[in-house]
Amino acid sequence: MLKYCEMNLDRASNYRKDTAWLEDKKKYNSQWLVMFEDKNLFCTQKNEPVFLTLAALLNLKIDKQLLSEAIFIGLEGEVSYFVLDLTNLNEQVLNKANQLGEFYDIRQFGPSIENQLASILILGRALCYWHRTHKFCGRCGTVNKLVEAGHSRTCTNQNCLHQTFPRTDPAVIMLVQKTFSDGIERCLLGRQASWPKGVFSTLAGFVDPGETLEKAVQREVFEESGIEVENVKYIGSQPWPFPSSIMLGFISTAVSSTIEVDQDELEQANWFTRAQLKQFTNWGDESEGFKLPRKDSISRFLIDCWINSPELA
Ligand SMILES: [Zn+2]
Repeated sequence: MLKYCEMNLDRASNYRKDTAWLEDKKKYNSQWLVMFEDKNLFCTQKNEPVFLTLAALLNLKIDKQLLSEAIFIGLEGEVSYFVLDLTNLNEQVLNKANQLGEFYDIRQFGPSIENQLASILILGRALCYWHRTHKFCGRCGTVNKLVEAGHSRTCTNQNCLHQTFPRTDPAVIMLVQKTFSDGIERCLLGRQASWPKGVFSTLAGFVDPGETLEKAVQREVFEESGIEVENVKYIGSQPWPFPSSIMLGFISTAVSSTIEVDQDELEQANWFTRAQLKQFTNWGDESEGFKLPRKDSISRFLIDCWINSPELA
């Protein structure tokens, strides 16, 4: 199962707009995630995220008014989950939070955290990021306020009242494969100069306005590698809120084979056989040589699918 894809809490979309219902949920059986600058609070001894009760949260000496900035994540039976961003709070609050754990980027623990839990954490992260970067109305520039349990923001200018919703930016990510004249299938992987040495991954890029996903796959592959592709097949998707994307995974077939790398996008791109990929080590390994992308990424999922399921091609 793809990482970050098992957010199984009930989002209660029809109830969460009801202020009385929401206040009730905050008071009884609530579990709280806290975040600081896109980092979740972890207990590093156990490599587990920290959930706080309401009492423990208030014990951080936060202003009770801040609870109106809480974001509702979902329900699991009688338990309600919320997230609160501590990024702009005073040092005293942060010091108290730091006594309960340490703030870490989830990607540091991503592959080792149970999938449903990881999916909840990235949802909290995504929503906090969106609120922090949408403080002002995009239409008139007035301050926005959080509404609908944190799933919307509304302009406070009474002549505007423009409402905005959390953004997810679609990005396509694609494994390009081709059967060469020697009868052997190869796939196209590239690497960015900023990645750890030896790591190669599938190509990817953002969908342009007015563009279909299939055209985005064809355009991105051609722009980055000079390869033309056809037969674009959808495989699956993965939320990737680092900071605000959803990755849409495809497999496609190349109709050309000569690579011309766009150096602005990629440092290098190559064709690899399945036999070669099986010799790759993993992202994060100390060894020399080629490495596969992060285990929690859809890129890795697509590569593993291609290696193990030739019928996908
Ligand atoms: Zn406005």
